Amino acid sequence: MSKDFLAGCRDQYDVVIIGSGLAGLTAANTLAKAGHSVLLLEHHYQLGGMATWFKRQNGHIFDISLHGFPIGMIKSCRRYWTDEIAESIVQLRNIRFDNPMFSLTTTFNRDDFTRLLIEKFQVPGERVTAFFDAARGMNFYDDQQMSTGQLFEKFFPGREDVIRLLMEPITYANGSTLEDPAISYGIVFSNFMSKGVFTFEGGTDRLVTLMKAEMLKNGVDLRIRSEVQKIHTERGKVTGVTVNGRRIGARAVISNANLKSTIFNLVGAEAFDKTFVEQAQTVRLNNSSTQVYIALKPGEIIDESCGDLLFCSTAPVFRTDLLLNRDITSRTYSFYYPRTRPGSDRCLVVSSTNANYSDWANLSEPEYEASKQDLIETTIAALEKYVPDVRIKIDHVEASTPKTFEHYTRHLYGASFGTKFEGLGVSRALPEQIKGLYHAGSVGIIMSGWLGAVNYGVIVANDVDSLLLKSSGSAPAVEAVAS
Ligand SMILES: Cc1cc2nc3c(=O)[nH]c(=O)nc-3n(C[C@H](O)[C@H](O)[C@H](O)COP(=O)(O)OP(=O)(O)OC[C@H]3O[C@@H](n4cnc5c(N)ncnc54)[C@H](O)[C@@H]3O)c2cc1C
Repeated sequence: MSKDFLAGCRDQYDVVIIGSGLAGLTAANTLAKAGHSVLLLEHHYQLGGMATWFKRQNGHIFDISLHGFPIGMIKSCRRYWTDEIAESIVQLRNIRFDNPMFSLTTTFNRDDFTRLLIEKFQVPGERVTAFFDAARGMNFYDDQQMSTGQLFEKFFPGREDVIRLLMEPITYANGSTLEDPAISYGIVFSNFMSKGVFTFEGGTDRLVTLMKAEMLKNGVDLRIRSEVQKIHTERGKVTGVTVNGRRIGARAVISNANLKSTIFNLVGAEAFDKTFVEQAQTVRLNNSSTQVYIALKPGEIIDESCGDLLFCSTAPVFRTDLLLNRDITSRTYSFYYPRTRPGSDRCLVVSSTNANYSDWANLSEPEYEASKQDLIETTIAALEKYVPDVRIKIDHVEASTPKTFEHYTRHLYGASFGTKFEGLGVSRALPEQIKGLYHAGSVGIIMSGWLGAVNYGVIVANDVDSLLLKSSGSAPAVEAVAS
């Protein structure tokens, strides 16, 4: 008989959370700490969503999305998780760029970018200061008409090299493009520029293990291999979910699943206003990714001069369509040295590339396998420029595609970074449509990435806490999100 992953579950909770991405986990922990009964349901056999890892023979552990996040994670993890998690966050100091326009190494913060823009790119100092101040000053309530491309044109007209330096890493970080609203760029770029790029020492498996322990301590009922098929509503109010065929009641439901699948698949368009449905239909998904995972033989070392993150490209200019093109010219390499996992003797490299789902979805099985092999081969060939003897050092290599991301996270078209900007308004408007129904997860570019997802989880937990306590007449127990 197959195992019942819901054995011992209650029939009713204050909150059911669908999905264990960083937003779902953070919302669950925050609400349980505030005293609410919380059931977290994850379809995969592992918690973390995109913040995940996998193990291969010879003890190799690959991280999927642990490449870098802004310093704000320390504050958010200290406030909403634990000191131990916050204190494991360390800086990556060597960020490299190599493309036909320039090659450089940077700590990726405002001071160093100012130096580079003035000394290497010969931009007047006052222009650089004005740009940084404008980007830093942007917030959600600003005019959203200006695009990122227009922002660059205003400060650095005709400077394709400067635009490449400023934009390429952010495109990798959240899939945003020159056509997206400037505020989505300004907020994310400024977050990174405040202090640089950070990572979690010990790997994603250690982070998620620590988070799981904290959630269990706070009383979250955690269930893996539990796929929600339906969110139930009655007369404009959420009543519960069906998971693995069983119905469970809830006063509030937070979906960490993709925004569009939450609305159209889990709830159903008929439960919403016509105008809301039309608005939700126009929300664009963000792009997906491919990755190549390379593990060196135990004890084989890569020289640390390769850097921690390397944005490399052979494309003569920076263009979004080139970044997404099946004929890859641009890759981001993450180099994981033994220090990444203290006590380990392993060096690993993960190459990530933004990709279109449509380039992979309709291939026959042999074509798909051949395409993956080609991806692996061309990635190793490109890596040889930086690690000439890498081929003889490799112990294990494999690749993932947009279909892999779709399979493991259920995200429509394997979207790596949720939705484009317009998704944020739709996500926030859900509880106005159906009382007790919320969405927390990558949307709107701003709320994606590790930091965006954690903070969005807290914002939504705050809303749910208010709703639950309003009905019982108590004061809210969740403190407001860190900025
Ligand atoms: C290749 C790649 C590299 C990245 N690199 C970085 C990086 O370096 N830095 C950074 O900050 N961000 C990075 N990101 C983005 C970051 O990982 C994500 O934005 C963030 O982890 C998303 O969190 P989330 O809460 O939105 O949910 P997700 O991580 O998207 O998780 C959603 C969860 O919901 C579950 N689910 C969906 N439907 C159901 C259902 N019906 N029932 C039950 N469970 C369900 C899924 O299985 C999944 O676990 C990267 C992403 C990718 C793909």
